[in-house]
Amino acid sequence: GIVFVAREVDPAESRVAASVETVKKMKGLGFDVVVEGGAGLSSRIADTDYEAAGARIGSTADAKGADVVLKVRRPTDKEIKAYKSGALVIAIMDPYGNDKALAAMAKAGLTTFAMELMPRITRAQSMDVLSSQANLAGYQAVIDAAAEYDRALPMMMTAAGTVPAAKVFVMGAGVAGLQAIATAKRLGAAVSATDVRPAAKEQVASLGGKFIAVEDEEFKAAETAGGYAKEMSKEYQAKQAALVADHIAKQDIIITTALIPGRPAPKLVTRDMLKSMRPGSIAVDLAVERGGNIEGSEAGNVVEVEGVKVIGHLNMPGRIAASASLLYAKNLVTFLETLVNKETKAIAVNPDDELVKATMLTHAGQVVYPAFAAAPT
Ligand code: NAD
Repeated sequence: GIVFVAREVDPAESRVAASVETVKKMKGLGFDVVVEGGAGLSSRIADTDYEAAGARIGSTADAKGADVVLKVRRPTDKEIKAYKSGALVIAIMDPYGNDKALAAMAKAGLTTFAMELMPRITRAQSMDVLSSQANLAGYQAVIDAAAEYDRALPMMMTAAGTVPAAKVFVMGAGVAGLQAIATAKRLGAAVSATDVRPAAKEQVASLGGKFIAVEDEEFKAAETAGGYAKEMSKEYQAKQAALVADHIAKQDIIITTALIPGRPAPKLVTRDMLKSMRPGSIAVDLAVERGGNIEGSEAGNVVEVEGVKVIGHLNMPGRIAASASLLYAKNLVTFLETLVNKETKAIAVNPDDELVKATMLTHAGQVVYPAFAAAPT
């Protein structure tokens, strides 16, 4: 079969769906690999690097011959038309609320997989794009905050006097939040964190962070079987908000990462909370793409809200594209490997495989993913 690695059409997308290593891997799996010219440039992978790994450099027109299309983002309607019916398309599909796009992919006869729906089981850990990308986003959030902050993060005792350590508060201690905690610690900040999942307490503590949360009965039962957060009751949210409000007033930098799968991001930081921080404080909203955790944060912008600089960069992993692409590409190829028959080297999608069941959105003209299949087409 032929794998086509597309150059992303969204100008805000700097990542690419294949690396030198994964091209070699795909060749080993028996694929011919065509990389669209320039696809890796913003991730510092030159066409010649791909060529040296055994890929052919092609153009958009080569998509038509591909059995497998690898992408970062869901293909646009225009891109879909360039693929052949029956092709597999693997990407971060952002399927929630995008019924029209799913219907278009189904109609085009594409078998599409949403990498972000990969189940969080041991077998699929190396295919987990949410983790690989969130980890880098958490790191980058601290780097961006430090760059905007007019003070130092570590405590510095010098002959000319002592600079105090910055106080960093991380809201949401999942994959991104834990990396933000670890990064801020490495830079010498005094770090605290909160989460609604009870399991987060120990993880925060193990990284040297102080855990801040209302730990009542609801909190103790707040984790779903999949390890995700549940939406908390109004009462819990009010109690937690009061505790957090007191805490935020004493912080220099806050980094919010709180998400609930399939729901808008919970609003955790109000304008009043921002107002309580001292001038020059920084807030980074990693949930900005999903509506944001911080009142006044703006997707794609750095804005001043009540005297606090609020960072709302989109696509945080894309800000360290070379690292992000390396990990994303590895996630993709590991999944692709499960779709190939080892002996015949033919593509063999097993509809009963739990990874396929969890991620397949469209197949044979239909939207097959249960949560979206009911949507009108
Ligand atoms: P996420 O991106 O969905 O959310 C980020 C964090 O925000 C979560 O920890 C969530 O609990 C928290 N949050 C939600 N609402 C909140 C609120 N109101 N206040 C404070 N925090 C709130 O989560 P994630 O980073 O993808 O990770 C979710 C869980 O899955 C974690 O326990 C993680 O360790 C686990 N995980 C498991 C595997 C695996 O087993 N293979 C892989 C990756 C992650």
